[in-house]
Amino acid sequence: MTASASRNASASASEILRSHIRDVADFPKPGVMFKDINPLLADPTAFRTVIAALAEQAATLGVTKVAGIEARGFFFAAPVALQLGVGVLPIRKSGKLPGRTLRETYALEYGEATVEVQEGAVTAGDRILVIDDVLATGGTAVAAATLLGTAGAEPVGLAVLLELTFLGGRQRVSPLPVSALLPV
Ligand code: AMP
Repeated sequence: MTASASRNASASASEILRSHIRDVADFPKPGVMFKDINPLLADPTAFRTVIAALAEQAATLGVTKVAGIEARGFFFAAPVALQLGVGVLPIRKSGKLPGRTLRETYALEYGEATVEVQEGAVTAGDRILVIDDVLATGGTAVAAATLLGTAGAEPVGLAVLLELTFLGGRQRVSPLPVSALLPV
């Protein structure tokens, strides 16, 4: 696909996201405007267009695996990985993966959280694209990228559907390149 066709695919994915992501005020707590992706998941044509746009953006990165961040990142990482012809790597919350794991703990507004990958699931030299639905403060993405680095892989980018630009996640994730189909 040419560069201009790829820009067109991203532009139509952005338009689709505008009409297929629902704002839910005060969920899961007061003051948060939750971005609900369920209308997108319910529309196969729209969903396919978004997956194609994510895969096109990644096509030149030389990716060897696509990592999805639990849980909503899984919906997007798996079909993008299939389209790129590479494996899927689940980055899971604490305690979900069997066997030995590598872990990274990070701070939340209240308390902390941990992300994990299975030991051996990542090999030295892996070039990994990380996918999630929403980039907010960037804390989760930084933890995921750090975890992959600890495992010997190279995180080559973060791809999200939506970027909440006012929260400065992109700066926090830097120097990892971020591509967002719809910055809001
Ligand atoms: P953060 O670590 O602050 O960048 O938060 C990113 C994670 O929290 C992602 O896995 C998102 O799914 C989720 N998230 C954060 N804010 C929102 C929001 N306003 N709507 C939907 N999901 C969100």
